[in-house]
Amino acid sequence: MTENPRPTDYPSPQLRVEALEALLVERGLVKPEMLDGFINRYVNDVGPMNGAKVVAKAWVDPDFRKRLIESGTEAIKELGFEGPQGEHIVVVENTATVHNVVVCTLCSCYPWPLLGLPPDWYKDPAYRSRVVREPRKLLGEMGLDLADEVEIQVWDSSAENRYFVLPNRPKRTEGLSEDELAAIITRDAMVGVAVVKVG
Ligand code: FE
Repeated sequence: MTENPRPTDYPSPQLRVEALEALLVERGLVKPEMLDGFINRYVNDVGPMNGAKVVAKAWVDPDFRKRLIESGTEAIKELGFEGPQGEHIVVVENTATVHNVVVCTLCSCYPWPLLGLPPDWYKDPAYRSRVVREPRKLLGEMGLDLADEVEIQVWDSSAENRYFVLPNRPKRTEGLSEDELAAIITRDAMVGVAVVKVG
């Protein structure tokens, strides 16, 4: 009798996903073109550029910003962004004294309609545990050194809510248009592991 393989002995995730997909298709449970369409949509059509449009609008339109903080899901729908993992979006606002950062300690919940699919580091067990335990140290290692007086709030996505960070607008951006602002807003700033910088 052979022993059950340990987790590290399993073949690569890609092989396992392919096997799973083949089985689901064979049983008639999913259509390959549906899966391809889904992946294509979240890799090419939906991504951090959506979230960046939301942030840029909030920076230039105080009424939108107010609606966004009060009722994130409804406000982002005004820009046409909705869908799976976007049913309950909560927008958390960075200020001069509070910095927000998002995690899913259980798995990898993420606001797909605004940011697309999560990056690998977001799914990494090290990020998921350390950002709760030692956020300042971890963010420092990721290149974000926050002043001691800035309080860090960590938001765990593990309920229905998907959190989205509204970053601070950098200084010296008064002359930029909404589109130009959107172009400087990064995915990492909207997860809260970075801040938006100019140039
Ligand atoms: Fe999750």
